[in-house]
Amino acid sequence: MPRNNFEEFVRNVSPEPIRYIQRHNRAAHPRGGRTEKRRLPIVKICILASSSAGNSAFIATDKTRVLVDAGLSRREIAKRLAGIGEDIRRLDAILITHEHSDHTTGVAAIVKASNRSIPVYLTHGTARFIEWGECSPAVESFQAGCSFSIGDFDVASFTLPHDAEDPVGYTLTAQGIKVSIATDFGYVPDSIRVHLRGTDLLLLESNHDLEMLRVGPYPWSVKQRVMSRRGHLSNEVAAGFIENDLDTGVSTLVLGHISEHNNHPELVRSAGLKALNGRALFTKLVVAEPGVQSEVFCY
Ligand SMILES: [Zn+2]
Ligand SMILES: [Zn+2]
Repeated sequence: MPRNNFEEFVRNVSPEPIRYIQRHNRAAHPRGGRTEKRRLPIVKICILASSSAGNSAFIATDKTRVLVDAGLSRREIAKRLAGIGEDIRRLDAILITHEHSDHTTGVAAIVKASNRSIPVYLTHGTARFIEWGECSPAVESFQAGCSFSIGDFDVASFTLPHDAEDPVGYTLTAQGIKVSIATDFGYVPDSIRVHLRGTDLLLLESNHDLEMLRVGPYPWSVKQRVMSRRGHLSNEVAAGFIENDLDTGVSTLVLGHISEHNNHPELVRSAGLKALNGRALFTKLVVAEPGVQSEVFCY
């Protein structure tokens, strides 16, 4: 890797010079471990948007830059990437979880405006439901559950119980750092628990407060759909997952895909904190506020 490229990448992450971290070497010492000093293997993550109004996450190493979902306009995604020192024209791939517009609104425009062919990864079923208009992207469709590589990242997909054609969540692993995106699902089957093991940063859905949904403005049929096993995860179910199943290694937990009508960030925060307190973990809790991009997380 050219040294100046690496340093430019680090500057975009942080004004500090290249940093070193101490990591717990659990693999070498399963009963207690030892700390070792080594060069920081940087993975940079920014949740550009996470709510019922739009979803997109940027995940990068110094060589590979990907988006998971593009549920904002191209212009807005470009603006939010520029805000963290990134250029939308330098994306290496887009991963799509499912066809709902809050995950796909900007994807065709991003592909169309790119002067190089950005591959778009999505399941066979989802691929049939994307309107590409005049652009003809390099579609890399796959069977839900498949794993593959994109540059520095080992990507695994897992099926989600959600009312879309063929929806998936993703884990992306580079240099031993695992980032997991799990939103848009009505309950937590064992297969999802297994896929989320070993995660360092987890974006987990905490969509609605059950009582706010019950008394809220949606028609009853929509309320039933949201609450169903193929709907969205409530604060209560997300808290149950944190209490019982959250991997002890998760250092950052981002609760997101918050409904703007049936939830409030402070309800999400208090339910998440209460659940985490029961575990006595050192996990940092972040609530993805609708309409606001997250801080940049670095590993
Ligand atoms: Zn959806
Ligand atoms: Zn969604």
